[in-house]
Amino acid sequence: MPSQNLLASAPIQIGAVKLSNRYIMGSMHTGLESELDRFDELADYYAERARGGVSLMVTGGFSPNFAGRMKYEPSFLNSHEQVEAHKKITSAVHEAGGRILLQLLHAGRYGYHAEIVAPSAIKSPINRDEPRALSDEEIRQTIQDYARSAELAISAGYDGVEIMASEGYLISQFLAPTTNVREDEWGGSLENRARFPLEVVKAVKEAIGPGPILSYRISATDLLEDGDGLEDNEIIWLAKKVEENGANVLCTGIGWHESQVPTISAAVPHAAFTCYIQRLKESVSIPVAASNRINLPSVAEDLLAKGQADLVTMARPFLADPFFVQKALNGNGDRISVCIGCNQACLDHYFTDQVISCLVNPRVMKEAAIPGHKTTNPKKIAVIGGGVAGIAAALETAQRGHNVTIFEADDKLGGQFNLAAKVPGKSDYGLFLDACIRQLEDADVKVELGSRVTASDMFDQGFEDIILSSGIRPRELDIPGSDDPRVVGYTDILSGRKVAGDNVIIIGAGGIGHDVALFISHSRPDGLSELEAFEKHWGIGRAREPEENPRTVTMLKRSEGRFGTTLGKSTGWILRQELRDYNVQQIQGVTYLKIDQEGLHVEVDGKAEILPADTIIVCAGQVSEDSLITPLEEAGLSVHVIGGAKLAGELDAKRAIQEGLRVGSVL
Ligand code: NAP
Ligand code: SF4
Repeated sequence: MPSQNLLASAPIQIGAVKLSNRYIMGSMHTGLESELDRFDELADYYAERARGGVSLMVTGGFSPNFAGRMKYEPSFLNSHEQVEAHKKITSAVHEAGGRILLQLLHAGRYGYHAEIVAPSAIKSPINRDEPRALSDEEIRQTIQDYARSAELAISAGYDGVEIMASEGYLISQFLAPTTNVREDEWGGSLENRARFPLEVVKAVKEAIGPGPILSYRISATDLLEDGDGLEDNEIIWLAKKVEENGANVLCTGIGWHESQVPTISAAVPHAAFTCYIQRLKESVSIPVAASNRINLPSVAEDLLAKGQADLVTMARPFLADPFFVQKALNGNGDRISVCIGCNQACLDHYFTDQVISCLVNPRVMKEAAIPGHKTTNPKKIAVIGGGVAGIAAALETAQRGHNVTIFEADDKLGGQFNLAAKVPGKSDYGLFLDACIRQLEDADVKVELGSRVTASDMFDQGFEDIILSSGIRPRELDIPGSDDPRVVGYTDILSGRKVAGDNVIIIGAGGIGHDVALFISHSRPDGLSELEAFEKHWGIGRAREPEENPRTVTMLKRSEGRFGTTLGKSTGWILRQELRDYNVQQIQGVTYLKIDQEGLHVEVDGKAEILPADTIIVCAGQVSEDSLITPLEEAGLSVHVIGGAKLAGELDAKRAIQEGLRVGSVL
């Protein structure tokens, strides 16, 4: 990793505006766009990122009219009454030294409400409702609505607007021949299908004038079946037309939301789609911003150095660390809290109607409520257990001025995250831990590894508060024969202490059961880089050709119903698809009876069966680690229990880190 982000720190001219560096924070829906009375919170959220050094931000999407809203709640901008609320955002950002664009997003057939509209009445595979086709008059009115929203955005103090024209929303729907089958001047030839987007660009440019920035978020590749989206040469043609019609910058998007290819999850290699972005950069003279799975300063610097883009748009990494840019430009890039691409608290919150947050930074959207003020009463605090809950608690307390020591029984910090980092596509979990360890050093947290402490140790050493985050241990299988050497725990497999045989049974089908199934099924074809293997597996720019599973793998669970329903809303489909690709067998409604020389004896649908296996991996959830609570309390110490030590059931890293931050912020 370069010590400083030299190319990224260079100023750049976008139309009439000079940006101080090459980092843009891309649009993210926060879940508050429709709540005008909560724009103070949005203002705090954006201002924090402006203070962190982002040169230009883009808001979540606001529709130019009611029909284009994303959900039932009206997140649109079309009246003077709404402008006052937006001024809170723009003035907070400007005071913090940043710049911000309003994103204009008409959802078209992607809207989750009953009145969706589109160029043609063709249902999206990811929406249960069929849209109504817009009339000619409505199309012309929609163009005017874009212009009116843009004008209002400028009057609210925004530094410009971004037209959202990628990821499959209304503008993409006009451009693609499969979603636009109109026979009037808005459909048919490419020129006709591009009429709507280009008229929008022209009208918006006229409305905002030459000063403010006009960004066009273009789909650098549609990632649809051949012939369904735009061809590569058509995208280049469109980019040139967009430039001619007045856009100052092209921000890029990748794929449609209905594409059958992962585009932003952890499974996607860093900067995986840069070749498509580079092609755009070579075709236009306005600046082009790269996006998708760029979460490290080294990745940003590398693509700028190779001339693949002029700027870098990142979104989730600024949730994970609002001070990303400041750290990157000051040579502290290895202290950045790395976005691990899990989507668990950002996209998955939005899709389940919650305000977004971040798994590794639960302070998101609570910037004012959890300010991290210095303590006026510094104390000597012990954190028992150095998993992610303990790390979060130790960091927060130490950064607030307490004297903190972590005691960890293992020989390294990180707990379950160390295992997660071994799963294919999850290596960023390890980078996140590395950054945490450096931050702990900076905050003068003492770390005692290989240290299993007692209550009297804590008392004798004079600790005033104890944060107990001693975590979990895997649940063991409790049937006759469970002590057979073929039975192993998931920690043995993921840590590499044991290697699975050729015929494997996995007991338990939660997140870890699925991850373990991927871990033992996945192999990278000889001679291919990570990116080439990803492209081959998912058929990007070539035929889809998943590699073969070197093993026979069968997953079992006791409950009835589909596998993988507890996986992440926006990422679960990827893991489910990968396991199908690897031909992993799945059996539900299983009763485990015993293990003997013949294999695992089970009952399924009332029928007894024997499943032979040379490895049986137990992924049956967790139980709390034996608790020190009572002895600590009996020793008269003030104890705060968090993470798995508090409740092992349904423990995930999101809850663990959140509890660590919470306790650290009040001590
Ligand atoms: P989990 O999600 O609670 O799953 C535990 C599995 O064990 C269940 O499938 C359960 O299925 C089975 N089970 C429970 N008790 C059992 C018993 N006594 N005997 C046999 N089987 C038993 O736990 P996890 O998979 O360990 O994951 C821990 C946490 O990490 C979860 O919150 C999970 O969401 C999160 N995580 C998520 C991901 C991801 O989304 N990719 C990856 C890793 C971890 P039956 O009761 O049907 O048998
Ligand atoms: Fe990144 Fe996960 Fe945080 Fe979303 S929740 S910003 S994907 S670390």
